[in-house]
Amino acid sequence: MVDVRIRDMSRVFQDGDDEITAVDGIDLTIEDGEFVTLVGPSGCGKTTTLRCVAGLDKPTGGTIEFGDRDVTELPVQQRDIALLFQDIALYPHMSVRDNMAYGLKIAGLSKEERYRRVEEAASLLQITDQLDKSPAALSGGQQQRVALGRSIVRDPTVFLFDEPMSDLDAKLKRDLRPVVQQVTREIGCPVLYVTHDQEEAMTMSDRIAVMNDGHLEQVGGPKEVYTDPATEFVSGFIGQPTTQFFDGRVRGGDGGTHLEIEEYDFALPGTNGELDGYASESIRVGVRPQNIGVDDGSKGGIPAEHVLDEPLGDETHSFFETEFGEIVVVTGPDFEGGQREYGLVLDPEHAKLFDPDSGVRVA
Ligand code: ATP
Repeated sequence: MVDVRIRDMSRVFQDGDDEITAVDGIDLTIEDGEFVTLVGPSGCGKTTTLRCVAGLDKPTGGTIEFGDRDVTELPVQQRDIALLFQDIALYPHMSVRDNMAYGLKIAGLSKEERYRRVEEAASLLQITDQLDKSPAALSGGQQQRVALGRSIVRDPTVFLFDEPMSDLDAKLKRDLRPVVQQVTREIGCPVLYVTHDQEEAMTMSDRIAVMNDGHLEQVGGPKEVYTDPATEFVSGFIGQPTTQFFDGRVRGGDGGTHLEIEEYDFALPGTNGELDGYASESIRVGVRPQNIGVDDGSKGGIPAEHVLDEPLGDETHSFFETEFGEIVVVTGPDFEGGQREYGLVLDPEHAKLFDPDSGVRVA
């Protein structure tokens, strides 16, 4: 049984006289058998973190432990990891079978044992019928399965993925996601999966670590980071279409707590004093597009001009122009947007409020 423990880990790069802090004191534990996804925008430090865990780079501060082994200083060859990148790099002159068996050959396993393990992995990955082909004869998705197979035959202690699906089209990605989940579950080791794709993170992970500018904003289950975001950044990054933000003000009084966004007023449901320090102060308001209602404009909502609809079958993403800029709302499949003027009503029950300076959620 092995878990991965990243403790107060930093990686600072020197660029001439400048220091670039790629990773800034992160703490993250991946339990044995747990699938944790590191997600965040380009340049936030995901790959640097993964490279340090792999042993391809060294942290400038903190430690990495695999079980009770401190591996911080160990080179990649001594860490017993499987690593899967976006670039697959199969050997073109070898069959799929030999590509998958190659690492085992280098490790000195007998031919019989090598092929036995390859057959087992191929069956799990549903590529048994591809084993005698050359890699050039395979589709991108099949090649990625072979690369995955090449990793799993070695029965690694820790599985690391860096954007392995970013070259695949949407359908291949959807097909491959459950395969990756099933295969890694079967192996039962800790998995660290890096992606900038929040949908991939939401659908595959036991827990998601949302990274921003070198630090971790929140670590939690997919539902938790979606419904209970700790910061404005997480609320804006997780979920599609993204949370819509407004600058508002909190007003207390006998009539209960209200939220004012310019001249628009929304009564907030009972709060437990979280907003006491914010009375008459500015606040950032985040509302998901699913929690914005559209009416005929006569009920005091935010006046909105309909711009366009993106029908997606079960739902439609409708875009409106307002005094606060463009707002996207998830409407029903029957929404036509026939008239130009509408009113947008925010559902205060689902509004998330953030401190405008720190970005930390307050209610
Ligand atoms: P992407 O999704 O684009 O790959 P990322 O989240 O993986 O981004 P990193 O590649 O870890 O981000 O980079 C984090 C920061 O560290 C960036 O500002 C990057 O420019 C910087 N960085 C990474 N490697 C080096 C290096 N070898 N030398 C200097 N700066 C680096």
